[in-house]
Amino acid sequence: MSLKVYIDGKLYDKENAKISVFDHGFLYGDGVFEGIRVYNNLIFKLNEHIERLYDSAKAIMLKMPLTEEKLTGEIIKTLQANKLSNAYIRVVATRGIGDLGLSPLKCKTVSVIIITDNIALYPEKYYKDGLSIITVPTRRNVPEALNPKIKSLNYLNNILAKIEAINSGFEEAIMLNAEGYIAECTGDNIFMVKNGELFTTPGAEGSLEGITKDTVAKIAKQEKIQFAEKRLTRYDLFVSDEVFLTGTAAEIIPVVKVDGRVIGSGKPGNITLKLIRKFHEITKKDGIRYKL
Ligand code: PMP
Repeated sequence: MSLKVYIDGKLYDKENAKISVFDHGFLYGDGVFEGIRVYNNLIFKLNEHIERLYDSAKAIMLKMPLTEEKLTGEIIKTLQANKLSNAYIRVVATRGIGDLGLSPLKCKTVSVIIITDNIALYPEKYYKDGLSIITVPTRRNVPEALNPKIKSLNYLNNILAKIEAINSGFEEAIMLNAEGYIAECTGDNIFMVKNGELFTTPGAEGSLEGITKDTVAKIAKQEKIQFAEKRLTRYDLFVSDEVFLTGTAAEIIPVVKVDGRVIGSGKPGNITLKLIRKFHEITKKDGIRYKL
């Protein structure tokens, strides 16, 4: 059976799931998106992802053509059509078909696309042994130009950083903001542990308000692990005891080396491992349930 993709109210076979070359999502990256996970028929943090999608859309003055409730129903229908119990969901809203000019006013119909597929994760060894990452020269977009809180289709800033990491033989990059403070990684938020306390950077430093980051903050509270958002420098990471990344696709992934400096013992730390355990417990019971 061919994978079915939702486009504007209809399901298409993967081979026929196409959008126009005049769509401004394609021409200019004019649109927004979300990545969402499904664990055993439970859609994890669906309401949070939908809220962020609608907020991103509002920020770029893109009017979603369906209500949040309707979109939830369409996501579930797409998962059911593909008989998926565990999946990665990509919801995309593009400005729609216009002309070759920039003006969004020429684009009359916003397109909504839902792709549900199996998830390709980082290889298992990175969860066990931890990642080695580097800081790259490309700085995170300044919020005054394109606010990283908007999860837009324009990911070139992150892709340039990713290319720099790959060119140097690394999987992932740390991006600094224009002032030189830690912003985030190319598709993940970054955390560190020092003397039992957990830290991450505030969104205002130039990062996406990660939903996994928020989940980790909630776990920390339950587990009585001190947690604070504060400005972080590369030095703070170098002298930390533990570092890890968070994201919907990556979940929680340990980092054992930053710019050649071994972090802590060089192995995933105890707080990181505890958070990973608790995170998996939550994904087993939290979420919007659907039947196949
Ligand atoms: N930062 C960026 C730039 C991202 O694209 C993502 C999502 N992949 C994240 C952080 C993590 O956000 P979330 O936990 O909501 O997936």
